[in-house]
Amino acid sequence: MTRVFSGIQPSGELHIGNYLGAVQNWVRLQTQHDCLFCVVDLHAITQPYDPRTLSSLTLDMAVSLYAAGLDPDKCIVFVQSHVAEHNELNWLLTTVAPLGELERQTQFKDKAQRQESVPAGLLAYPVLQAADVLLYKASLVPVGEDQVQHLELMREIARRWNARYGAGYFPEPQALLTNAKRVLGLDGKAKMSKSLGNTIGLFESPESIWEKLRPAATDPARKTRKDPGTPEICNIFTLHQGFSPPQTVADVADKCRTAGWGCLDCKRVLADNMIAALAPMREQAAALRRDPPGVLERLRAGAAKARALARRTMAEVRDRMGFLKAAED
Ligand code: SF4
Repeated sequence: MTRVFSGIQPSGELHIGNYLGAVQNWVRLQTQHDCLFCVVDLHAITQPYDPRTLSSLTLDMAVSLYAAGLDPDKCIVFVQSHVAEHNELNWLLTTVAPLGELERQTQFKDKAQRQESVPAGLLAYPVLQAADVLLYKASLVPVGEDQVQHLELMREIARRWNARYGAGYFPEPQALLTNAKRVLGLDGKAKMSKSLGNTIGLFESPESIWEKLRPAATDPARKTRKDPGTPEICNIFTLHQGFSPPQTVADVADKCRTAGWGCLDCKRVLADNMIAALAPMREQAAALRRDPPGVLERLRAGAAKARALARRTMAEVRDRMGFLKAAED
């Protein structure tokens, strides 16, 4: 079975943007491949963050992932910092990672611009990503368009390590590009993101979902009910594609183009479908939140499975790189 690895930042509760953009696909993948999904807390600390909230945000993300449908019996869900081998392989890979390529990464340049003093960890972020994936010899990485450059660098790091220490040892990971839609925020401008305050949480109440959807941006061409619109440029239509059945999606497109209904009618249908789709997840999240020790135990078991795989890789990597074996190995 092909091994798949993907990670998500510990940003607390999932919102519908990261659910439709990534996690919904992960839930599908867990039944098709040998999957590891990781809450990447070591990556999160390369940006300014609050140490007082990191652990609760990490736990909230784990709750979200389980409630959204990741099943510990079908895939491995764990927290990155719970498997120390990520750090070790990260260091070893920094010795083959090309500095010029790291400096050329668009995300590094964007984020570095916004910081007064740029930490080396921000530059080395893609090396840690390479360690995450190569540690498990994963060959498929579900990524969005914005991560394709990092994946190319990951492949380069694997090639360089292989050239020096073991031809073909690490597979060169391939991007698993999904047809998941890029969900915009409720303002219809930027990507849905908590920092922009334009999200709907995955477990929000039905009232709150409707309150947020009602004023959300639509196709600006639909100034009045009589003006036809273009569903393809409307974020509400994108959300219909995520939550409504195909027949409804086709109906929405038709009524939008022919001005057959108003945007508020369209949003009400979306709200009803979204509320129905999210209800079981909301219930599951509430049950998990009542049992933090149970969630921690699931994460502990996930980390134990991941660590067993990671240790095997690290023993081989240390051996190929010529380190003296420790007595307890
Ligand atoms: S009818 Fe629906 S799809 Fe068309 S612009 Fe309004 S909200 Fe968007």
